Amino acid sequence: SRVRVMELEESPSISYTQIGGLTDEIKEVREAVEYPLTKPEIFRRIGVEPPKGILLYGSPGTGKTLIAKAVAHEAKATFIRMSGSELVHKFIGEGAGLVRELFTLARERAPAIVFIDEIDAVGSMRTNDGTSGSAEVQRTLMQLLAEMDGFDNRGEIRIMAATNRVDMLDPALLRPGRFDRLIEIPLPDRNARLEILKIHSKKMHLNDVRLDMIASMTDGATGAELQAVCREAGMMAVRRDASAIEMKDFTDAVRKVRTETITDTRMYT
Ligand code: ATP
Repeated sequence: SRVRVMELEESPSISYTQIGGLTDEIKEVREAVEYPLTKPEIFRRIGVEPPKGILLYGSPGTGKTLIAKAVAHEAKATFIRMSGSELVHKFIGEGAGLVRELFTLARERAPAIVFIDEIDAVGSMRTNDGTSGSAEVQRTLMQLLAEMDGFDNRGEIRIMAATNRVDMLDPALLRPGRFDRLIEIPLPDRNARLEILKIHSKKMHLNDVRLDMIASMTDGATGAELQAVCREAGMMAVRRDASAIEMKDFTDAVRKVRTETITDTRMYT
């Protein structure tokens, strides 16, 4: 069961070139996470402490996990991911213990990047369900704070977390010496959308497809949706038994993916 809640990858294969847009955000993350691992002498020379924890926030599917993996790749660090929501919902009664194990594992596998996805599940201001889980969630959060307070930010472990509910986070998590660097991961603008479409259609056979026009008609789409558009356009061409993907496959795919998303959103509001 431990294995499922913690996902471990030795230096993931994702590189920065596989991320569309987010140039400034990647630069910030490199300075805060990668350089303390790869060039610690600079921080010593200048006499500045690197940030302890880095929180990426923004809509789901915008590339937060992707950035964390790319940083681990670049720093040749072990990537250890833990899902805050799984921790709280699947492993009831084990949360605090698992957090302790997470940091033990990181020390054993250093240099390491610990990535806690959906941290709001562990560190929300209010427990929205009001069940008996809340005392347990509180214990898990306390353990996380204790682990963060207990380690040296010049060491070989960096902590990253992601959330799409930054407004809901317990302020205790955001105090100096904890998640003290916040980086917003925005929705891609037109240019970034074009880059993302290019990345995800790189290996596909396209025939006269104007990806720039697809980028223009997908305002508001996330990276994950644009990846779905490419995949769906490919499937349309497969269904036609065609030799290449045409513009119409892409426009049909946009309609399909965007309709699904809109329906999805309605279901939650
Ligand atoms: P969540 O909050 O749902 O975990 P996330 O922000 O961590 O979302 P990712 O898991 O990084 O999102 O993105 C999901 C997938 O969408 C990625 O594996 C990637 O294929 C694609 N994707 C998202 N953003 C980008 C991007 N900026 N460039 C290229 N691909 C992207």
